[in-house]
Amino acid sequence: MATPGANSATRTIDPPMNWQNAIITRIETRSPRVKSFFFRLPEPMTFRPGQHVLLRLTAPDGYRAQRSYSITSAPGPGKAKELELAIERLDDGEVSPFMHDAAEVDDEIEIRGPIGGHFNWSPEDGGPILFIGGGSGVAPFMSMLRHRAAIGSRVPVALVFSARLRQELLFFDELSKLATSGGGFSLMVTLTREAGAHPFRAGRIDAALIKDMVTAMKAPVRQVLICGSNPFVETAAEGTIASGIDPTLIKTERYGKADSGSPP
Ligand SMILES: Cc1cc2nc3c(=O)[nH]c(=O)nc-3n(C[C@H](O)[C@H](O)[C@H](O)COP(=O)(O)OP(=O)(O)OC[C@H]3O[C@@H](n4cnc5c(N)ncnc54)[C@H](O)[C@@H]3O)c2cc1C
Repeated sequence: MATPGANSATRTIDPPMNWQNAIITRIETRSPRVKSFFFRLPEPMTFRPGQHVLLRLTAPDGYRAQRSYSITSAPGPGKAKELELAIERLDDGEVSPFMHDAAEVDDEIEIRGPIGGHFNWSPEDGGPILFIGGGSGVAPFMSMLRHRAAIGSRVPVALVFSARLRQELLFFDELSKLATSGGGFSLMVTLTREAGAHPFRAGRIDAALIKDMVTAMKAPVRQVLICGSNPFVETAAEGTIASGIDPTLIKTERYGKADSGSPP
């Protein structure tokens, strides 16, 4: 017999989020402008693929700056003791140049999270699902794909990954390996500022490209997740809608301001 309130009794309650002093354990160069920072968490956290954390810097005079960064590592099993964040250096920025030029292994950096209940996906949510990432906007999809691989899921997933140049394709070897392993993940890469001399498509994401990807998936797409700079998300969402996909299936995560440059 159903017990009133039984569902709420089984629901997990997120603990209050405090700032914690995470320690940088490793720094890996992913591309000329992106480095991965691996943080050890004194307070391990449970998160869902797609969530992000806040990273806060405090200057000697007390001035503080905080920015959001998607978690690229997979959650679990259990609470994550370590997080990977892939941070792109924006030359005129505050936080990202500090992380690239000054932050070192063993430094303590304040982190708070996980945050974000909207832009998440786990294999339990089902598929087929289409991810569209521009530049460092591939970050949340890495967490989703790594989690999917870690639990041996075969839910159909496709990633359309756009970058300006071949050398800016983050995690490309790992993504290629996942795509060739035959587990229901397909990858399409398009480069916007490097034509020819590579096996990828050239040009921006448009309706034709999305249509090709969706047709190859064979079953109707359940959801489309788009992540990147604001102009990138605009272009990709327009292309997705023009390809005939229901706009209510689209979720977006935007990394920058509306006027922060042209799409990658
Ligand atoms: C939910 C969420 C997740 C994010 N995840 C990531 C991530 O995984 N990796 C990552 O590198 N960034 C990510 N970002 C962006 C990040 O939060 C910062 O905005 C970025 O690092 C710039 O910070 P900054 O202090 O260096 O530059 P700022 O001092 O904030 O800005 C400097 C200049 O760059 C412009 N600008 C700001 N952001 C962008 C951008 N993304 N693209 C182009 N121009 C921009 C500003 O308009 C300004 O002119 C995320 C943002 C959000 C909202």
